Amino acid sequence: MIPAEFDYVKAGSVDEAVAALVSGGEDSKVLGGGQSLLPVLRLRLNAPSVLVDVSGVDEMRQVSDEGSSILVGAAVTTYEVMHHELVTTHVPLLSQTAGLVADPAIRHRGTFGGSCTHADPSGDMPSVASALDAEFLVAGPGGRRTVAAKDFFVDFFTTAVGLDEVLVAVRLPKLTGWGSHYEKFHRTAQSWAIVGVAAAVRVEGGSIAEARIALTNMGPTPVRASSVEAALTGGPATAEAIAAASASAADGTSPTTDTHADAEFRQHLARVLTKRAVEKAAGL
Ligand SMILES: Cc1cc2nc3c(=O)[nH]c(=O)nc-3n(C[C@H](O)[C@H](O)[C@H](O)COP(=O)(O)OP(=O)(O)OC[C@H]3O[C@@H](n4cnc5c(N)ncnc54)[C@H](O)[C@@H]3O)c2cc1C
Repeated sequence: MIPAEFDYVKAGSVDEAVAALVSGGEDSKVLGGGQSLLPVLRLRLNAPSVLVDVSGVDEMRQVSDEGSSILVGAAVTTYEVMHHELVTTHVPLLSQTAGLVADPAIRHRGTFGGSCTHADPSGDMPSVASALDAEFLVAGPGGRRTVAAKDFFVDFFTTAVGLDEVLVAVRLPKLTGWGSHYEKFHRTAQSWAIVGVAAAVRVEGGSIAEARIALTNMGPTPVRASSVEAALTGGPATAEAIAAASASAADGTSPTTDTHADAEFRQHLARVLTKRAVEKAAGL
């Protein structure tokens, strides 16, 4: 179907994007890579009167080294995230996961910021951001603010970004001395996660000193597997200890039942995939 008519604004800066959103009012929408938004418009599930394209905003197209963290612009494509040297070197969990998103055509157009702001429960990038306690830099008419990952993902397809705001960039800590892995379960070669697990662990002298785990598609937003993190921390980095800790991965989760899997099977997957992801992150 052809989308309903809309005005198109190509923003040259973050300020221009915010000004266009403010002047467009409630019916304006940010356009990133268009891989999720355009199908919605074509199905006429949404009909914004103004689209504000941020794909050419230079500030949002940068990846930069901030010392202990990497700042990834919201308009950086999934393909660029997958291959950028700063990301592959310092946040390999993000580059590995980017390589599992959709197919090459979608990765070349879709953006990191679009994936996070779209906030699809089966999206892979939000779980990585959640596991790493990323910070989201948001700009609006009142200025700029930073939102912690735990406050960014609010509900199904809903984030803390307001209607007149733009996600500018995402700050992720460098994983120096950590191992990491994203384990994704899907039925066809390139598809959305039925369940996914983002894991990062720091092993010291044969023990797990720190662990961060987030689950994809186990609730309306990414879910931190806090009980697994607590059970792993201070314990041996062995297959037996990881299996025992992973048994609680589904505790407190509320996955949906749909045509791909029922809630019970998703909870089973969460336990199995957490074990696999942590083992790989720990180098077993
Ligand atoms: C067939 C198919 C398969 C896919 N498979 C996967 C998969 O396996 N895993 C996965 O994680 N994703 C998958 N995706 C989603 C894909 O990664 C999308 O590109 C992504 O979800 C949205 O990114 P985008 O830049 O295209 O955003 P857009 O489609 O442009 O926008 C999506 C939403 O985010 C908002 N938005 C975008 N950028 C900003 C910004 N900077 N500030 C504020 N709001 C913004 C828009 O207003 C809109 O509401 C798939 C998509 C398709 C079509």
